[in-house]
Amino acid sequence: MTAAYLARAKRRVLVLERRYIVGGACVTEDNIFPGFKVSTAAYVNSLFRPEIVRDLRLRDYGFRLIERNPSSFSPFVDGRYLLLGPDGAANQREIAKFSQRDAQRYPEYERMLERVAAAIEPTLMQTPPNVVRPGPRDFVSLAKLGLAAHKLNGAMGETIDVLTGPARAILDRWFDSEQLKGTLATDAIIGAFAAPSMPGTAYVLFHHVMGETNGKRGVWSYVEGGMGSLTQALAKAARELGAEIRTEAEVARIIVEKGSAAGVVLANGDELRARHVASSVDCRLTFESFVEASLLPPEFLAEIKRIDYASASAKINVALSQLPNFSAAPGASAGPQHRGTIHLCPDQDFIERGYDDAKYGRPSAEPVVECTIPSALDPTVAPEGKHLMSMFCQYAPYQLADGSWDQAAKDAFADRCFEMVERHAPGFKESVIARQILSPVDIERTFNLTGGNIFQGAMGLNRLFVFRPAAGYSSYRTPIKNLFLCGSAAHPGGGVMGAAGHNAAREMLRG
Ligand SMILES: Cc1cc2nc3c(=O)[nH]c(=O)nc-3n(C[C@H](O)[C@H](O)[C@H](O)COP(=O)(O)OP(=O)(O)OC[C@H]3O[C@@H](n4cnc5c(N)ncnc54)[C@H](O)[C@@H]3O)c2cc1C
Repeated sequence: MTAAYLARAKRRVLVLERRYIVGGACVTEDNIFPGFKVSTAAYVNSLFRPEIVRDLRLRDYGFRLIERNPSSFSPFVDGRYLLLGPDGAANQREIAKFSQRDAQRYPEYERMLERVAAAIEPTLMQTPPNVVRPGPRDFVSLAKLGLAAHKLNGAMGETIDVLTGPARAILDRWFDSEQLKGTLATDAIIGAFAAPSMPGTAYVLFHHVMGETNGKRGVWSYVEGGMGSLTQALAKAARELGAEIRTEAEVARIIVEKGSAAGVVLANGDELRARHVASSVDCRLTFESFVEASLLPPEFLAEIKRIDYASASAKINVALSQLPNFSAAPGASAGPQHRGTIHLCPDQDFIERGYDDAKYGRPSAEPVVECTIPSALDPTVAPEGKHLMSMFCQYAPYQLADGSWDQAAKDAFADRCFEMVERHAPGFKESVIARQILSPVDIERTFNLTGGNIFQGAMGLNRLFVFRPAAGYSSYRTPIKNLFLCGSAAHPGGGVMGAAGHNAAREMLRG
């Protein structure tokens, strides 16, 4: 993203990517199951900034979103199910199957999130002010924030709850139905090593409802051809603007001369000189591996060392001979139950128990699984008649109390995740042609994400906005002159958003 914007401003840019393919955790790979296009890591979009799509004309380079309606399907063992999506009246009818009161309250809950989003969303494309050493621009930025907060009117308290509180407290306050709360709470723990009863999870929930698709708030979409079509469109746009992209080029070190970044050294020993360096990897790599510790202020390094990379998320990609046939909503051809995210979570206590295992270093006995089947809406990702399923599974702690994430441990965890699907869709296991299991350790090895943390560091309030990655360093600049951060280690954090790269380019051009 940064490369594209810098090239657009007529700067000479070279992108260095360690893997054989650009796109990071947002890629489509066709070498995992023959004939299938697998979104290996990230699997759904809504956070990607629409202004970037317009700026870089990504549609001209093949970027297309496929809206999902309904957006979620939650089957329950008693034979009932809950469908939620962009249609407010349909949502109320669905929720009323479980609680009349919740059905009445749901539109107001959505309006509350909308109010919070309206205040927070404009900050995504802003450079957070420096609250430690504020300059004139920071004061202007702080004043703008004050104005945004003013617009919240009576929603200030609720906003603070969302930014700091546990998702469970908020959901329990709003709703009675465990089925509804279980469905909503799964969004609060995606990628976070936390249970819904823990502070900070409300923000994760909010982070997942903040985006939009084609102007529709909170609607998640598939990217046609898999998530990698987004980053491939971006790569094409960047190349056309003049950027050079080199794959299988692993950076080993950042060259620093007289306190200023002056290029990089690759793992193969090649030295590449440059006036500016932007790093889109996490802070552990940038500051504890690529740069000599002695070049950094000790208090900055201490702050960086405190970043939390804990992770308990596993990703399983599955090639299927047929669609799952859910007992609660039978049907073997693509129906509403297959289009959105399939939440396999009966209630919030189920998530808490899954977390209880993980906090002692054990993968959950009964994992929380959310599945998506992009081939139900996008036939380009699977051979005719076959299907592709993505399973995002929690909790699979990076650090195991006993043993390691070897094949046996991965298989045992994946078997339990498959059991969860089988419970709701008998015959599922027989339909599996092949599976790829990515434990947090595999996520770390494949994408170079420390600890397998999908957000390049936890997204608690202590590491958001002016505090990401550290207070006083939220402007994409680092203590080393001409060394910038341009990925999700910086504001606004993880998710396929493009905002960090866009904002970093703006700051680099400011000098
Ligand atoms: C399993 C998983 C599922 C996810 N699901 C979703 C989702 O559905 N929706 C969503 O919005 N977000 C999702 N995310 C988060 C999202 O993918 C990331 O937040 C996003 O990709 C961050 O982009 P980035 O450019 O900051 O960094 P990354 O995507 O981490 O890219 C960093 C790049 O740097 C490269 N690199 C690392 N080390 C070196 C080196 N030494 N030299 C050269 N190159 C190097 C890496 O190979 C990688 O290509 C998911 C992430 C994971 C891991």
